Amino acid sequence: MINFSQLAQKYQTPLYIYDFNKITEQYESLKVAFKARKAILAYAVKSNSNLSVVKHLAKLGAGADCVSIGEVRRAFMAGIPKYKIIFSGVGKQDDEIKEALESDILFINLESEAELGRVEMIAKDLGIKARISVRVNPNIDPKTHPYISTGLHGNKFGVDLNMAKRMYLKAKNSENLDPVGIHFHIGSQLTELEPIREAAVIVADLVRTLQAVDIELKFFDVGGGLGVTYKDEVTIDPKEYAQAILGTLNGLDMTIMCEPGRFITANAGHFLTRVMYEKQNDEKRFVIVDGGMNDLLRPALYSAYHRIEALDNDGETSLADIVGPVCESGDFFAKDTQLPSFKHNDLIVVHSAGAYGFGMGSNYNTRGRSAEVAIEDGKDRLIRRRETFEDLIALEEEFIK
Ligand SMILES: *Cc1c(COP(=O)(O)O)cnc(C)c1O
Repeated sequence: MINFSQLAQKYQTPLYIYDFNKITEQYESLKVAFKARKAILAYAVKSNSNLSVVKHLAKLGAGADCVSIGEVRRAFMAGIPKYKIIFSGVGKQDDEIKEALESDILFINLESEAELGRVEMIAKDLGIKARISVRVNPNIDPKTHPYISTGLHGNKFGVDLNMAKRMYLKAKNSENLDPVGIHFHIGSQLTELEPIREAAVIVADLVRTLQAVDIELKFFDVGGGLGVTYKDEVTIDPKEYAQAILGTLNGLDMTIMCEPGRFITANAGHFLTRVMYEKQNDEKRFVIVDGGMNDLLRPALYSAYHRIEALDNDGETSLADIVGPVCESGDFFAKDTQLPSFKHNDLIVVHSAGAYGFGMGSNYNTRGRSAEVAIEDGKDRLIRRRETFEDLIALEEEFIK
């Protein structure tokens, strides 16, 4: 049990709290599920990129799936070895590609033919052979929120099967490209196994087609996307997930890469905030807290649900919205929820905030970002201090003289 009131006393609010034992548990459950095969779990750093979180996963043996060179640097700083780091994303810049190649990471995931051309050119300049993989868009509907669905042809991610084939042939015939992997990632917060299985079947067939023309890929990268329970979602069992994927790889001797983000961190994180005021506008009741959409954007961005726990209070309830101090109507954590009446400084926990929480934060309204705290074996420690006003203006100060 996490002692939220003690943590609020010690570190103030708003505050992110991550349970590192829970992170371990999630990582291990997936690792065990894939134990029948060579597998690398490349943690999707963007889901929670705090260096201490990434370092914790590095110690467990995780790799890293990065979507910017900044994330690649974080992975290195956290101690993840280069042969477990991959670099994905639709819009990599030349200097990012160059640095990734120079640091000799496992491979770069290509998302377009144009990008293949850039990587080839940069590798040529460096006089090296770049290990690459192609992100295939299998045109499968993952049945999740449209903003986090990525595997349909209407999305900006990946290339279709014919284009992928062309790119592999180009890469094979290039002096400076070495096709080693194949990748798909059809969406996030997936709760149905069937779309993943269908995507894996399509991509495994492509691997076989490529074998016929002497292109032997070593890494079968199934992306991330495993969903978690925010409310009452029934999620995919890691063992069934692994079985479904392994079942599509008959006769193929490949290392599985998996890129879990949310699955590892979402439910390990809690966002702690204090009630400042209660307010009634006509019929509508608002609970105003000290955390805002600049701290936790998911409700505003996706209308995402987060379970709310009122810590100091279990009295009679009535419907209310929990809103932050930011000047936007989208600044809320819960809508029309049964809540007890609060006093000034009562604590509220917003659960399942460990993934896409702090990382999507901003300084909107000149609000410093929250502190982050890790809990491990009952002990707490600060892993990022709260931002001060001085932090926020540091990059502008010199220009106002
Ligand atoms: C975001 C992303 C992931 C992680 O997604 P989750 O839903 O957090 O597991 C994995 N791979 C790629 C390429 C991504 O863009």
